[in-house]
Parts: sequence; structure tokens; C-alpha cells
Amino acid sequence: MPAMKLLTDIIKKSVAVGVVILMEIATPLWAFAENNNSLLTTNNPDYYAELRIKDNTLYAKGKYTGAESFAGGLFNSEKDLEFNSDTGEFSFEIDLNQVDEKYGGYEYVYFRVNNGYMRYLMRMDDEGNWCFPDNGAAEKNRAVIENPVNTPSKLWAAYVCSHYDPEHTRAVLEKVKNLSDEICQGASDDYEKILRICRWVSDNLYYDHDARDISVTAETVCLEHVLETRHTVCGGYANMFNALCQAQGLSTMNVRGATATDGITFDELTNAGINHEWSAVRLDDRIVIVDAGWNSLNDYKNGEEIYRGCFEFYTDITIEALSMDHCGYSAEIREFFKAEEYFKTDEYITSVSQSTAQESNPGNETPVNDDTNTTDNTGFVIILLVLLVPLVILMLIFIKKRR
Ligand SMILES: [Zn+2]
Repeated sequence: MPAMKLLTDIIKKSVAVGVVILMEIATPLWAFAENNNSLLTTNNPDYYAELRIKDNTLYAKGKYTGAESFAGGLFNSEKDLEFNSDTGEFSFEIDLNQVDEKYGGYEYVYFRVNNGYMRYLMRMDDEGNWCFPDNGAAEKNRAVIENPVNTPSKLWAAYVCSHYDPEHTRAVLEKVKNLSDEICQGASDDYEKILRICRWVSDNLYYDHDARDISVTAETVCLEHVLETRHTVCGGYANMFNALCQAQGLSTMNVRGATATDGITFDELTNAGINHEWSAVRLDDRIVIVDAGWNSLNDYKNGEEIYRGCFEFYTDITIEALSMDHCGYSAEIREFFKAEEYFKTDEYITSVSQSTAQESNPGNETPVNDDTNTTDNTGFVIILLVLLVPLVILMLIFIKKRR
């Protein structure tokens, strides 16, 4: 019977697909990935380290321009290291056979430049050789920035001025443009503009612990608030960096994903919840990755600004180095300078006429919905119905048969 055969084929195939999906979930991806014995930390020729492991010896060399003090080595046993204080150049080597067993086959190469530090993970493989492990995040990070998604104009408007004021929006964008021109004045090319903008954002913004502890709203990360207070969280750092780049005609992405913080481990990075946002900007034929928030050492806590400046470990960081503590899940295109398009949409025009009607009736005051996190539930309802209707029919058949 061909119909019967077709049915069994479909069942067999669905079972096979199910098994594959289960395997994907159950097996850590890094088990299949190839570990590396070298690591370039950034693509910035003035601020990088080149690490190589051979015969269980780590060879490090590189350059940290602007370094006034430099320390490094293995985590927890780092020491002040020789470096050229004029150029920031350094080189050193470490025998990895001396690594303390108590860390269970994990160790970090550690760098301290001025008052910021950075570490890169090493792991001992099954044969007892040290390497830079691959957890699968590099592949995912690459795929995400190569396939960015566009976002609606309402979101662009919200990220400029969280309460959708056309006048404010225009004024904020003008301020961003002027600030960007000021930062980039005299820059010789787009790469220098990116470096300068990143430095400005990391150095001038303060991480808002108060907002993070209480509640992060659309306002916390919108350009208007960030320009005015200089206090924000990761999304605001990314928005500010991206908007300043867009003011110079560059295209940018807000990458959203997981970082190895909040209890998320290196091995869980590709399969965790979104807890962070950073930036990616197109430069000719490549994509420059920047985390201006993690470069920043400034804090805003209990209503007080604590200035510590910034480093540049996350400026033009390589995918391999980024993937040690960041895994992107989506890359959003936000066209800040086209935010005013939202004010021409029917949605906005209707919302304004509604709120004007409410204003003329003081007894019925409802605030305009500002929350960008509010999502349209129609899709969910449709899915629910599609799932529920056959279930109810099946149940009815079942009940009928039992009778
Ligand atoms: Zn506003």
C-alpha cells in the first residue's frame, strides 16, 4: 500500500530528525571543533598579542601602544614584564609544564596594561598538550555577523529618544553627528575613526550599576539619555558607538549574545541566554568587532561616578579571541539616522491621534506605551491555535471511541 509506505517513511524521517536534534543538544560542540595552538588577540597593529604554543612552551609577543605599565604571565602568578616603554612592544615565553595541576587542565595567559587586564584561556588536551580550545563560538560568531537582521523603524526611534519625541529625535541626531565629527576630526581613514570613536565611548561613558540592579529600561540605552547623563549599560555603549560610526557613513550591527559571566561557562557559551550586547562595523571587505562596554573601566554606582579610563583589548578583537568569552546569537541593524521614518508610519500617526484624544479628556489618562520590549502577541496566538485545534479534535475522537 503506497499510502502506508509514505506514512512509515514520514515517521522514520521525523524520528531520524528528532535523534539528530537531540544529539546536537546533548553533545558539546567543542568536542568536534579543532583546538588551536596559536592565537592573535586583535587585528589592531598597535594593540595586540600574538600567542603560540609549541612543545608546551607559550611564546608571546606583541605591542600595546600607550602602555605605561605592563604585567603578564599565567593567571594568579603574573609579574611585571620587560617591555619597550616607547613603543609598547614586548615578548616573553613561559614553560607550561610548570602549570599548577589544581586548575584541572585550565590556565589563562594574563595581560595587565596600565589599570586594565585581559586573559585568554588555555586547556590541556587528552594527549597532555596545551592549546587554545575551541568551544564552537567562533563559528557561531562568524555566522551571526555575516547574517545580520534588519529591525523596524519604531525600534530605531526608541533607541534615539525612548519616548518618541520628533523634536528630541532631530536634536539628538544632530548632537551625535557633531560629536562624531569632533572625535574624528583629522582622522586619516575609516579605521582610525573607528579606533577613536571606540576610545571616546569607553573613556567617557560609565557603566550604570544602579540601573542594572534596579531596572534597565528603553531609556537607559537610548542615545538621548546616554548623551545627557553618560550613564548606561552594555546596550547603550553599543548604541552610542554604532551611532557615532553611522554619523561617519559606516554601517554597524548591534550583536546580542551570551558572555562567560553570570555563571555561564566557556563550554556553555553557544547555548546560553542573551546577557550582553556589543558592536560590529563594516570596514571595506571585513567586519571590525568592538565591545566598547567591556573596554570601559568607568562605573556609576550609588549615584557616584568612578573614573578609571579604558583599555583596548576588545577593539577590533579577532573572532577567536572574542569567542573565549562572547558568543553572538543575532546581529541587529539599527538605522539611528533614519529614526524619523517612524514618525511617518500609520502606527505612529494613530498613536499620536489617540493620545491627543486622551489628553483632551483628563479623566482618562493613559501613558503612551514606551516599552520597546513589548512584543506583538498575534504570532503566538496563531501558533497556539494551530497546536490546540488538532489536539482538541484528537481528544474528541478519543473520547468518542472510548464510549
Ligand atoms: Zn526625548
